[in-house]
Amino acid sequence: MNQLVKPLLQDSFGRSINYLRLSVTDRCDFRCVYCMNEDVKFLPRAQVLTLEELYSVAQTFTELGVNKIRLTGGEPLVRPGIVDLCREVGQLPGLRELTLTTNGSQLERYAEGLRQAGVKRINISLDSLDQQRFTDLTRRDKLAQVISGIDAAVAAGFERIKLNAVVMKGRNDDEVLDLVEFARSRGIDITFIEEMPLGDIQEHSRQQSFCSSDEVQTIIAERFPLLSSTESSGGPARYFRMAGSKSRVGFISPYSHNFCDSCNRVRVTVEGQLLLCLGNEKSLDLRRLLRGHPGDLTAVKQAICDALQHKPEAHDFSHGDDVQVVRFMNMTGG
Ligand code: SAM
Ligand code: SF4
Repeated sequence: MNQLVKPLLQDSFGRSINYLRLSVTDRCDFRCVYCMNEDVKFLPRAQVLTLEELYSVAQTFTELGVNKIRLTGGEPLVRPGIVDLCREVGQLPGLRELTLTTNGSQLERYAEGLRQAGVKRINISLDSLDQQRFTDLTRRDKLAQVISGIDAAVAAGFERIKLNAVVMKGRNDDEVLDLVEFARSRGIDITFIEEMPLGDIQEHSRQQSFCSSDEVQTIIAERFPLLSSTESSGGPARYFRMAGSKSRVGFISPYSHNFCDSCNRVRVTVEGQLLLCLGNEKSLDLRRLLRGHPGDLTAVKQAICDALQHKPEAHDFSHGDDVQVVRFMNMTGG
């Protein structure tokens, strides 16, 4: 086998990869209409990476120079053992930042433990402050639980808390200002996301519900003038500050402001598929490699370095309801 020639992960377009999004489960206690269908089938246990394998994946990537890991899913807080996994991953040498994305439903119980375990930043999804709408969008009546979870996260003292809202025309686009007010009232950040064409959903037409970041930005700027900021969280969001608040407003705009040229990330699904790009089906089976070489990460590392040479230059989301990527977001690791 070839010797590893590059100590750090670099793709064929010269982009360095220092960020891993690792999915710890495909399961979820919500059924958000843009993410999965109500009758979603989850993976059998044998196909899912064990906690030990998830740790090995994290270890492999940190040894290859990745210094930021986000645990995601599905809903990471429904995976038994998640806090212990955070503690162990958080202690990996070379890791600068461990973060987690959650729907918030279990945060009241877990926020303090996650903070103690070394999770520095946390993203919490919140698309509506209206109980009926929240229930329609998530197909679960858990708004009060999520708000308690957000407040528990604020009390636990994370270095940064960010709300994520997917904006959909006719569903929650009239709540943009209320969501910004909510973030300001707690001194936390908020990012608005354009819906992406991941998975074949039946509930609505993505083409009809599409709401661009520019439209959202215009709504916000009328109430809160937005001051452009050069700050970056190392991700695709563009950030703005507002007078009289420490909250920042961000926009993730995979359609309208393509960010692929600065892409620094890869994803690993809970089945152990290394995905080189969110908008692309190319993958490498890490589970097979891990199970084929127990206790030896050399082959896994070599395969990752080789696979990175196939990371595409850009995603190619185009408008319409044609399914471009058959994976659902909970499978991808959002
Ligand atoms: N369950 C957790 C949560 O909801 O925060 C973590 C996983 S979820 C897949 C991660 C993020 O992806 C959430 O903020 C969610 O709103 C977003 N998401 C899911 N499906 C999406 C889609 N089709 N387009 C854009 N964002 C999506
Ligand atoms: Fe679950 Fe998150 Fe998908 Fe909603 S977006 S269904 S909370 S994984």
